[in-house]
Parts: sequence; structure tokens; C-alpha cells
Amino acid sequence: METESYKKAGKIAGQALQHGAGFIKEGAKVLDIANAVENKVIALGGRLAFPVNISINEMSAHCTPLIGDTLTIKADDYVKLDVGAHVNGYIGDTAMTVRPLGKDDLIICSEKMLENALKVMKPGTTIEEIGEIIEETAKKFGFNPVRNLTGHSLNQYDLHAGMTIPNIRTSSRYQIREGEIYAIEPFCTAGAGQVKDSGNAEIFRWLNDRPIRIPEGRVVLELARNDFSRLPFAKRWITGITKIKLDMILRQLIQANAIHPYFPLKEVTNKPVAQSEHTVIVSEKPIITTKL
Ligand code: MN
Ligand code: MN
Repeated sequence: METESYKKAGKIAGQALQHGAGFIKEGAKVLDIANAVENKVIALGGRLAFPVNISINEMSAHCTPLIGDTLTIKADDYVKLDVGAHVNGYIGDTAMTVRPLGKDDLIICSEKMLENALKVMKPGTTIEEIGEIIEETAKKFGFNPVRNLTGHSLNQYDLHAGMTIPNIRTSSRYQIREGEIYAIEPFCTAGAGQVKDSGNAEIFRWLNDRPIRIPEGRVVLELARNDFSRLPFAKRWITGITKIKLDMILRQLIQANAIHPYFPLKEVTNKPVAQSEHTVIVSEKPIITTKL
């Protein structure tokens, strides 16, 4: 049952990702793309495991359109589209990089890094080995993996369930086991291969119930816990509160340690970054749930 839900969620995420990729053209609005993808997840019978991430060029992750966002895609942009869907809390997490001008070595490199890692998602493989394969693949292309972005284990209603899969060789001797679920997500760049927080958070997640004085603050915290199932949500998903008031409430909820902000992550040398991601069930023949 659990496996079936993972497979269903993976298929929905994969289909929504492909649907969204079709809209990535010069002049397209990121807000329209995000809406199309998020509506697709719902139409296919899934729920959103996190807001659609659309991170462009040196912006590596955690970007999602703002309320009324007018940003459009340029021909030579590296557009990373990252989609998460869940069924009963079982998550499929998948991403790809699209460039309107066409695929280049950077994008092909991230796809190869992922492909090579997925092949070894079998019982007994160590995390050290997976990271080494990802790093070696990037080096062969002459790129650097992004060292402080990682893959992660998944669990019901839990996007980062404790284990991380680094995109570089580490000394982790942990052996992955039959039935464990991981999202593998290598990132590569011609830059230094490191990201840092940059700009304002548009994505948040429930952390703790706290006494909140402002009624709208209590409403947002309840949405975060119940409607969004303690999974990440976007500021633009909250309607009926003015933007100024919403910003104030979110600040207070962060200060109260009631919610967690995800800051956009930018490559430190401002070089474009490509990402590829699939969700996989560890098995002698690895089951890639998000692959169509
Ligand atoms: Mn993802
Ligand atoms: Mn992920």
C-alpha cells in the first residue's frame, strides 16, 4: 500500500514536471508555469508536497513565484523546475533543468550525474560510493558538483527524513537498505559549487504550535499545520490577507519559532547551476518512481 502510494505520487510528480517543462519558453511567466504545474498535480489526484520551485541560473533552489510575479523566462536561462507531489503523505520529488535555447553540457552533466547514481541505488551501496559517483561524473565533464546541496531520504509527510545523499564523496559508510526511499538530486556548475542564502523567503514550513496574538497569525499557522500537512508552502498560497499584513504575520511566526523560512539559495560565484532529480526505492533493480 505504502509502495503503491509512493509509485502513484511519483508518477503524478513526473507527469506534472513534464507538463511544466513544456511551458518553459522565452517570454513565459514563471507564475503561469507554477500555476500550471500545481494545478496538474491536483488534477492528477495528488497533493502538493511543496510549492513548485522555479530557480533560474545562479539561483539554485528554493525559489518560487511571488504573489503577482511578473518575472519571465529568457532564452539562455537555465530553468530548474522542481516538483513534489504526495499521495497520503507518500512523496515523489523530481526536477529537471530546461533551457529555451536547448540542452548544453551543463544540463547533460546533471542528467548523467543522476543517471549514474540511480544505477547503484541497491541494498548495500554506501553513501560514500553514491557521492563519489556523482562527483566523478561532474569532474569528467569539467564541472563542480554543488557540495552543500544534497539528496535526502523520504518518509510519510517528511521531505527530509534524516539521511542525506551528498553530491560529493564523503566518508559515510552507511549502507542503503532494501525499501528505503531517497530523492537523488545532483547539482553542477562551472562555478565554485557552493550555495548561500540570498534574498527573501517565499517558502515556509510549520515547526511548532505557539500562542499567536494576531487572529490572522493563528489562521496561517493552522493552514500550515492542517491544510499544508506540515509540509512546505508558498506565501502566494495564502489568500485573503493583504500582502503587508501577511509579511508581518510571517515575520512574527518565524520569530516565535512557529514556522521555518526557506531562503533562496544562490551559487556563491554567480555561475549558472543545473539540477536533475528523481525519487527512487532502493532495490536490486532500483525503482525510480518519478520516471515516466
Ligand atoms: Mn526536489
Ligand atoms: Mn529533493
